[in-house]
Amino acid sequence: TVSCDNESLASLKEKQWIYEDALNKYDRLKARGLSLDMSRGKPSPTQLGFSQPMLSWTSANDFISIDGVDCRNYGGPSLGLSEARQIFSWILGTSTANIAVAGNSSLALMHDIIAFLMLKGSPNGNKPWVKSGQISFICPVPGYDRHFSILESFGITMLPVPIIENGPDMDTVEQLVFEDPSVKAMWCMPKYSNPTGITYSAETIHRLGSMKTAALDFHLFWDNAYAVHHLSDKSVFIPDILDVSATAGYENRAFVFASTSKITLSGSGLAALATSDQNLSWWQSHSDLRSIGPDKLNQLRHARFLKVKSSLDRLMESHRSVLAPKFNAVVSTFHRLLGSLNEVEWTEPLGGYFINLKVPTGCATRTVQLAADAGIVLTAAGASFPYRKDYKDCNIRIAPSFPTLSQINDAAEGIAVCVRLAIAESELE
Ligand code: PLP
Repeated sequence: TVSCDNESLASLKEKQWIYEDALNKYDRLKARGLSLDMSRGKPSPTQLGFSQPMLSWTSANDFISIDGVDCRNYGGPSLGLSEARQIFSWILGTSTANIAVAGNSSLALMHDIIAFLMLKGSPNGNKPWVKSGQISFICPVPGYDRHFSILESFGITMLPVPIIENGPDMDTVEQLVFEDPSVKAMWCMPKYSNPTGITYSAETIHRLGSMKTAALDFHLFWDNAYAVHHLSDKSVFIPDILDVSATAGYENRAFVFASTSKITLSGSGLAALATSDQNLSWWQSHSDLRSIGPDKLNQLRHARFLKVKSSLDRLMESHRSVLAPKFNAVVSTFHRLLGSLNEVEWTEPLGGYFINLKVPTGCATRTVQLAADAGIVLTAAGASFPYRKDYKDCNIRIAPSFPTLSQINDAAEGIAVCVRLAIAESELE
């Protein structure tokens, strides 16, 4: 009918007007010639500066640990120096006896444990995963791209399960682990998850620690990377998964990981594994073969810098004073410039390093491309999903830590301009 044609003509004109307005704003953004990298959750130089005093420590006259180990030499305790294990006991709330400090990268510990499980068999004596046919991991999504890359490199099948308000969708998780013995493990980022910032509820953690699994060698890979990385004055606490699973009769279920990468120096921190006695001796029996011992001078350097728990708390407070305004700037800019749009939402995390921005289906890749063309580098769309496939193409990870606050203001406005143009384009199609 005529009225219907008029209506669709009007709506087409309106869409064209919205598109032209968005394009104008985008051209102005491009003309600013920004050059910002928000692709990874790296601490800023200001944050690294907080640990600068640690580098003034010298081992010239101070190289003997509390247990009398000469830290310059080979050998010593292969679970790490007592004083370094103590630091992770503060971070994780776990007893030092169940903590190993090794290397500078928790990701490397995760990788090695998967390799040991593949090649050597599990702590409870089950055969190596390479001899067990298909192996699958539950992967809450969106998640951490490097977790997924490890699994991809080992040819392990990834089973995506959505993250909802209180953590992974537990009904789906429980069904998968109960029915399928090929499901051998699950990635968990229980606190201030990458990239959603979500913290698992106590109920979710209890369900994970006590659920029945078809695989006898089922493990939780509990990546507690952001245990003390609060952004608000509401420090979030979660139950200790090692306690929860032991109480439920599954003492060996969880491997817990943490590091000081985002506490002291990302390139030269300390990494730790916390787990049951049996898991720890299993890990030690394999890892002792690959190294004569950890870098004990770096452990001592950390212990001299983080002498007591309150020095750790103060350091995290300094990080927060730099990070929180950056997160607030992104969130308030998104409210101002994107708040009125349908199907656009973002997380407002209480800790961690990331914000997850959701845009309408099919608009994430285009938004990231537009941003890159305007000099704002974001994490590739799809990176937070197994095989880099976000089937709805709607998630974008925002990492506000590295640029300065004024750059973050520019970047957040720029991202909003790109989101608006990507949506306007898609509506004209
Ligand atoms: N786990 C998570 C969830 C991360 O976001 C990161 C780094 O961004 C890592 C682990 C890497 O930790 P590390 O530096 O200890 O290897």
